[in-house]
Amino acid sequence: MKMSPNEERIALTMCPKPETDCNVTLKRNRLTNGETVKNHEATTQKNDESSIESEYVPRIKWLDLIAQIFIHGGCLYGLYLVFTQAKLLTPLWAFATIYTSGFGITAGVHRLWSHKAYKAKWPLRLLLVLLFTITGQKDAYTWALDHRVHHKYSETDADPHDVRRGFFFAHVGWLFTTPHPDVVAKRKAVDVSDLEADSIVMWQKRYYIPLFALLTIALPVAIPCYLWSESLWVSFWVNFNLRFCINLNIAFSVNSVAHMWGQKPYDKYISPVENIAVSIASLGEGYHNYHHVFPWDYKTGELGDYPFNLTTGFIDLFARIGWAYDLKYVSPNMIRRRARRCGDGSHVWGYGDVDISKEDLTELDMMGNDEM
Ligand SMILES: [Zn+2]
Ligand SMILES: [Zn+2]
Repeated sequence: MKMSPNEERIALTMCPKPETDCNVTLKRNRLTNGETVKNHEATTQKNDESSIESEYVPRIKWLDLIAQIFIHGGCLYGLYLVFTQAKLLTPLWAFATIYTSGFGITAGVHRLWSHKAYKAKWPLRLLLVLLFTITGQKDAYTWALDHRVHHKYSETDADPHDVRRGFFFAHVGWLFTTPHPDVVAKRKAVDVSDLEADSIVMWQKRYYIPLFALLTIALPVAIPCYLWSESLWVSFWVNFNLRFCINLNIAFSVNSVAHMWGQKPYDKYISPVENIAVSIASLGEGYHNYHHVFPWDYKTGELGDYPFNLTTGFIDLFARIGWAYDLKYVSPNMIRRRARRCGDGSHVWGYGDVDISKEDLTELDMMGNDEM
């Protein structure tokens, strides 16, 4: 029976058999929004021809490179000041700011606005957008758009921080080089109508520069000066540069480290991995293999224990008072089915799972015999 283009596309995403179908997942990642498989093949052939004609050569965006050098150089100087001149409360304030504003990224621009993994009433959206602005990572609209493109076209030329181009590019290089033409094209193709309909997102986008000046620079720097008489000079380098740089690098590590080093319990054919260190640093965003397989889960991980996934606790807390609602997640059966079909064997459901190693199984059986 001949399938319609839409049915064909759905079939590709279901990964019904091991190995071959997980490879299909890889193919699916290269599909464009709304395209049929046939169209995709035709487009790929056409693209191959045109890419031979005009090969993409990235150029350095010098202003952005200078900004990154300033942020990272200033971070080192800020660190020096922490050990030589700063009052004890000043780095503690920077630490507190990093981890409170971090929820603006994880619960806000990531799980809420990029993935629509839950819904939030306006007071929570306002809180999240203000926290996110403190981190200084562009406006929510631009961040979420790029993140949607990253998920939809992961590990293709259209991925803004394509990890196939190496650790440095995925970590920070993509921010100061001209994007691949496919990235530019897909940014225009991805649906962001929900973001455009969100008045709080669009307000922050419209007033981003004054909000950046106020919330990313002035507020974090001024509070130590007023409350415990820290010098403006020290507070600037510690509470703007050092804090900003650490926040940035934690977010960067999700794109680099969590795409390179760790286990792949849910799909071994994609680059994202489970990395507990990234999870701890990023308030629970290191369960990245899971997250790329089930991006709509508000927990972004199967485990979701609060100490390693504080953002889940944050969202659950606001769900209790009704500000967060319609939380989406994945059933244990759906996870188990996917892990068995496509995982690397690091995810087992218990005794009897085919992915338990022979050595472990032998030892387990012997332990059973000992008890008898
Ligand atoms: Zn994501
Ligand atoms: Zn990713």
